Amino acid sequence: MSLKGKTAVITGSNSGIGLGVAQELARAGADVVINSFTDTPEDHRLAESIGKDHGVTVRYIQADMSKPDQCRALIEQAGACDILVNNAGIQHVAPIDEFPTEKWDAIIAINLSSAFHTTAAALPMMRKAGWGRIVNIASAHGLTASPFKSAYVAAKHGIVGLTKTTGLETAREAITCNAICPGYVLTPLVEAQIPDTAKKYDMTEEEAKQKVILERQPSKEFATVEQVGGTAVFLCSDAAAQITGTTISVDGGWTAL
Ligand code: NAD
Repeated sequence: MSLKGKTAVITGSNSGIGLGVAQELARAGADVVINSFTDTPEDHRLAESIGKDHGVTVRYIQADMSKPDQCRALIEQAGACDILVNNAGIQHVAPIDEFPTEKWDAIIAINLSSAFHTTAAALPMMRKAGWGRIVNIASAHGLTASPFKSAYVAAKHGIVGLTKTTGLETAREAITCNAICPGYVLTPLVEAQIPDTAKKYDMTEEEAKQKVILERQPSKEFATVEQVGGTAVFLCSDAAAQITGTTISVDGGWTAL
């Protein structure tokens, strides 16, 4: 599978799943734009090293995905966007009656609304190019719920709905839109939940990982960023041309329960 000549924009990709997806798309030959809200020398060095590793052009563009105008500016600055991966995301865990309003607003803005803005900006470019792939990184929490994750579960169900609508609006064109629904992947977003979980259940952090975090993942293994990235590459392939408006789970069986 070669994505040579295609430009991929991945939101929130200086860490975790976004970085893994960027690396797999670069490995498949795509030129890549990586992004986050920061603008550090390390961000630019990361872009340079992915480019060198895979012999493709990799740029870092700073844009805050909580801001609609910056979401659209990211796509405009990229100049081309054949593949759009909406990945930026944050988490906050609290009961609904204690859930801070600003956390709700930030999660909806970053995990859901940003994908609407980038998609709106990218579709005209894809139509002009006559080809496009949109991959939304949803979650098992886009198909099922957990307590204390109201904003995250609402945003992820929302992005599955946006995926279906985008798939329908582009169904007669060579453009597809799908969502990948990972179960637990050991990234900074999940690692941040481990100390509190261990404390809450009076366990070691290793026990918390195995007995609490992976409790709902029947494989009892974390999915990897390479597996999510490989699934994104598949969705960009010709074999996936008739897959649109749907979800693919990478969750060790979680949603089969
Ligand atoms: P992570 O914390 O490692 O990465 C999140 C990325 O988003 C980082 O690059 C961060 O810089 C970026 N980001 C955060 N706020 C941003 C903003 N305002 N503007 C631009 N970028 C911003 O987390 P991750 O686990 O890699 O999560 C990536 C995506 O995968 C999220 O949408 C998350 O919901 C989803 N996901 C993760 C898991 C998991 O188990 N890790 C499971 C299912 C879905």
